[in-house]
Amino acid sequence: MLDLELVYDTVLAKDYCGTCTKCIDACPTEAIVAPYQVDGSKCISYFTIELKDAIIPSEMKSKFQNWAFGCDICQDVCPINARSKPHSEQAFMPSEAFLHLTKKEWIEMTDEVFENLFKNSPIQRTRLEGMKRNLAP
Ligand code: SF4
Ligand code: SF4
Repeated sequence: MLDLELVYDTVLAKDYCGTCTKCIDACPTEAIVAPYQVDGSKCISYFTIELKDAIIPSEMKSKFQNWAFGCDICQDVCPINARSKPHSEQAFMPSEAFLHLTKKEWIEMTDEVFENLFKNSPIQRTRLEGMKRNLAP
């Protein structure tokens, strides 16, 4: 909270989606239940990042299409996003050290290796045990 008067945007009133339903059609877990409405409790990002349970319900996990930390298929298929330009900010680039980790390397990873590789990474949110849970059959 702060006591500054901020310059803020107005509510987005224009309907940019029109008749498009690409994100609704592409979502593997049917989490986008209607235009502009996501049921977060069905989203892969929720299960793989936020859920603290030791096990992900199998009826949901079977729909994950191998996603292990988040998903964003809905962002990838959106024609509006297709017009955006990729950033060139080095600080946001993924490290080569973890771009090519295999599933076996993940399953066998120690806490020490995880802490070294992902010291300042958002993957810390689900922790190593969460990643192993996400990758388990
Ligand atoms: S992130 Fe994936 S699971 Fe979540 S709403 Fe988008 S497409 Fe669906
Ligand atoms: S894919 Fe993009 S444009 Fe199409 S309905 Fe979804 S958010 Fe709207």
